[in-house]
Amino acid sequence: QLILGIETSCDETAAAVIKNGTDILSNIVASQIESHKRFGGVVPEIASRHHVEQITLVLEEALREADVTYADIDAIAVTEGPGLVGALLIGVNAAKAVAFAHSIPLVGVHHIAGHIYANRLIKEIQYPALSLVVSGGHTELVLIERPGHFKVIGETRDDAAGEAYDKVARTLHLPYPGGPHIDRLAQEGDPTSVPLPRAWLEDSYDFSFSGLKSAVINTIHNAEQRGETIKPEDLAASFQQSVIDVLVKKTVRATQEYGVNQVLLAGGVAANKGLRKALAKAFEDIANTELIIPPLSLCTDNAAMIGAAGSVLFENGKRSGMAMNGNPGLDIETI
Ligand code: ATP
Ligand code: MG
Ligand code: FE
Repeated sequence: QLILGIETSCDETAAAVIKNGTDILSNIVASQIESHKRFGGVVPEIASRHHVEQITLVLEEALREADVTYADIDAIAVTEGPGLVGALLIGVNAAKAVAFAHSIPLVGVHHIAGHIYANRLIKEIQYPALSLVVSGGHTELVLIERPGHFKVIGETRDDAAGEAYDKVARTLHLPYPGGPHIDRLAQEGDPTSVPLPRAWLEDSYDFSFSGLKSAVINTIHNAEQRGETIKPEDLAASFQQSVIDVLVKKTVRATQEYGVNQVLLAGGVAANKGLRKALAKAFEDIANTELIIPPLSLCTDNAAMIGAAGSVLFENGKRSGMAMNGNPGLDIETI
């Protein structure tokens, strides 16, 4: 079974060919980061224009590298939502055009289901599984009791983890996207040097990062006013520790409560070295639950993950018609 995956929900134009749901034959990603950098974030209109320019080239490259033609493809999986509507439309329309021209079944994929199923490219999923999703727009704990069915047991009430990373980075005058820069700085700093809050939100599995973000920004401004300097690496390390403490503790508690077989780390912030290390350490002592952490290239946006999720949905009978449209508010629980 060969699936062509297509992803254009934000600022990466991507296509990939996945064999039997688990083998990556090609995984092409055209990133637009350089074009958005000078604006300090993704500019939707610019993103759409880049997708239009890149999509045909990226599709051709994915087929060429996999050494297949459209005649070999069993289904086309495309990100249907959530994301920027103008960006989603480019991928969805490209997928529909190719599906129509070559009579290939079409499968719409939820972007976060893609991030979660990136893990199936590493290891076969053992259900029930729990996923910690930490990305630019999402922070949630998702229970997957059977293939393709998702239940959100907790989510952020304000900022996503990646969003907090990017905003803190901006205050420290680091380039966009700031997550990897904070991560690198944090390795050199003292995580106990700056006292910062942790939002536990009692027994819920929800998260909140906006208070932490404000605390970091206030710490920087107050120090500036007093003419003091705080080492950026100490601030980065303290901020990162606060984020990691909450993510790890809630993930461990949910693992125990739901008795899951696997925990799947997912989303762009899953590339964070500190988080990967802390989770690995916490799960050393947990018997009967396997922690899976994808390689860095499968954490940030890519189409291999969309192909992987698409394969699961396709096998479970999902088919999307020609009426499919980009859906920026797509809900993972109703797909
Ligand atoms: P979503 O998946 O929620 O729709 P998105 O697709 O824009 O949002 P991703 O591409 O999954 O987000 O992840 C991008 C985010 O990951 C950015 O906020 C970026 O700063 C963050 N990120 C990437 N690498 C790291 C890292 N090493 N440490 C922390 N954050 C990181
Ligand atoms: Mg991106
Ligand atoms: Fe993403």
